[in-house]
Amino acid sequence: MSKPAEKPPSKAVYVKSYGCQMNVYDSQRMADVMGAEGYREVATPEEADLILLNTCHIRERAAEKVYSELGRIRIIKDEARANGRKVMVGVTGCVAQAEGEEIVRRTKTVDLVVGPQSYHRLPGLVARAGVAPGVVDTEFPVEDKFKVLPAASEARTRARGLSAFVTVQEGCDKFCTFCVVPYTRGAEVSRPIAQILAEVEKLAAAGVREVTLLGQNVNAYHGMAPDGSEWTLARLLHRLAEVPGIARLRHTTSHPREMSDDLVAAHRDLASLMPSLHLPVQSGSTAVLKRMNRKHTRDDYLRLVDRIRQARPDIALTSDFIVGFPGESDADFADTMDLVRQVGFAAAYSFTYSARPGTPGAAMDGHVAEALQTERLHALQALVTAQQQAFQESLVGRTVDVLFEKAGRKPGQVVGRSPYLSPVQVIGPSSVIGSIVPVRITGAKTNSLDGVLAADDHMMAVHAAE
Ligand code: SAM
Ligand code: SF4
Repeated sequence: MSKPAEKPPSKAVYVKSYGCQMNVYDSQRMADVMGAEGYREVATPEEADLILLNTCHIRERAAEKVYSELGRIRIIKDEARANGRKVMVGVTGCVAQAEGEEIVRRTKTVDLVVGPQSYHRLPGLVARAGVAPGVVDTEFPVEDKFKVLPAASEARTRARGLSAFVTVQEGCDKFCTFCVVPYTRGAEVSRPIAQILAEVEKLAAAGVREVTLLGQNVNAYHGMAPDGSEWTLARLLHRLAEVPGIARLRHTTSHPREMSDDLVAAHRDLASLMPSLHLPVQSGSTAVLKRMNRKHTRDDYLRLVDRIRQARPDIALTSDFIVGFPGESDADFADTMDLVRQVGFAAAYSFTYSARPGTPGAAMDGHVAEALQTERLHALQALVTAQQQAFQESLVGRTVDVLFEKAGRKPGQVVGRSPYLSPVQVIGPSSVIGSIVPVRITGAKTNSLDGVLAADDHMMAVHAAE
């Protein structure tokens, strides 16, 4: 049955996304679901009739940021009211799931609180909160939200650019002892193949060239195919590589324990699967990994890196680290630094341990003093930044394919991404936007690369020879 056409926009929604890429995807789907109700998406809260904060609960500071943002939003809401305009405010995502009723108790600014599994019900919840503020829905409903959610309109997809996220798996059954995700996002569920394929085909029809498949443990994906069989992530990637228009595929986040042979082989065999892989290790110490319940050792990880690099020698590996997990000794931390030196990462995120209420880690002995955690974090970040800079510099002089996405900040500049995910800027015509074009890298900064279009390079060489 075809979905009814969107109502013409009469109201505006602003969605602010915190945390991971899965939240970015969810925020877009919230804008889509409200779009079907006649809400256009706006870029600032001041323009909005409905403000949604799609929150992250992974670390304590992430939740505190939300409460301070609510303080700013209260001013916007009060000013709008003084001008005779009603603004509604919703907290969604993982803070909503974890804190529920507490949010509406703590601040009168919030009209509705919606967990990550209930956002397909937003229109009904907004309507209810319009009559009686303080609506809370943090259920894990039995219906499949992806079946109910409307697809993004073609115009909205185009406005979001050439690269799109598609969540293929949600939740987590791993229960790492530091992590709230299994509690806020629920059990691991893989979306069926046909649903994902339809979504990717629709994105491709609207001009999307690059798709990143998302999941908390995306490489544990096992989705139902139309014939009733179960497909792995590798098989899904092979199928998506056939979708006309999709030139680049990526996936994140992968768990070291779930890196199956067929996925490693896909990184060798599939030209459209980009050579970058986010593979969080968290610690280089086997003893700490055990307390974290990561279910892999330091050696397992190092062996896995070798296997992946044998399959795809140029792969850019990135990772996540937590320093100062309970019981982490100087020797444990030295193991982490040593692992980083052995692997050589293209980039990494690192955090000091944040005890999350209700997780087993929060009750563990061996608290590491904050000053020591910070000292270790700085040492790790200095090492990782040096590796990132070295990786970027290793590309200077090489020609890499760049998917050009948009105009740059400087006149005549266009910006795209390398296969390794770094932004690349060149001086060139805007006609390259949407295409994958070879670029010779001429300079490296820690977070971006400068280059020249290889075609311009060739012309200059011809002129010089004449
Ligand atoms: N599922 C992914 C995995 O298994 O690695 C990552 C999920 S989590 C959203 C992203 C990162 O946040 C983790 O890899 C970890 O480094 C960090 N993180 C999670 N809980 C944390 C905590 N309690 N304190 C500090 N960092 C944390
Ligand atoms: Fe959290 Fe561990 Fe699950 Fe990743 S695998 S989401 S870190 S519990």
